Amino acid sequence: MVRACIALGSNLDNPVLQITQALEALSKLPYSNLVKASSLYTSAPQGPQDQGRFINAVALIETRLQPEDLLKNLQAIEKAMGRIKTRHWGERCIDLDIIFYGQLQIAMDDPDLKIPHPLALSRDFVMIPLLEIVPDWTLPNGDAAAERCQDCLQHDLTKLP
Ligand code: ADP
Ligand code: MG
Repeated sequence: MVRACIALGSNLDNPVLQITQALEALSKLPYSNLVKASSLYTSAPQGPQDQGRFINAVALIETRLQPEDLLKNLQAIEKAMGRIKTRHWGERCIDLDIIFYGQLQIAMDDPDLKIPHPLALSRDFVMIPLLEIVPDWTLPNGDAAAERCQDCLQHDLTKLP
């Protein structure tokens, strides 16, 4: 089993419910267990500003799926939940990204699957929930994620009660 971190985000159609349903779907991934889920957070959108705030969370799973199969399963969940392609960094009812897959590093020139997710370390809405559930996570280069994430400033992120 490999431990992997999945980031969840939603800003459409009752985002809190979307995240809850996506976590439920993650708990049913084949060859995998949902180990832990973070609290829910709310964050300002990163891309176009004329869209609603996001609800974010991070899940820790353990899985026997290879990274490519894990991505396919996550995309199937997005599709089943009704995700429609909109503009870049635009609104979505659900976004599921693989942030880390054990200590694996996949070539950064493969646009279909980049692991670690290249923007993760600078995104407070990913790293703060992630460090809540796995404060001792180690990056592929051996650095502690918590150390590297000192640059990951909290811009406009709030934990939901
Ligand atoms: P974004 O998450 O960047 O807002 P999308 O969810 O539309 O955008 O994903 C765009 C593409 O990113 C997907 O087709 C997928 O193949 C690719 N991708 C590359 N690396 C990853 C990753 N680690 N997790 C999820 N998707 C990834
Ligand atoms: Mg995505």
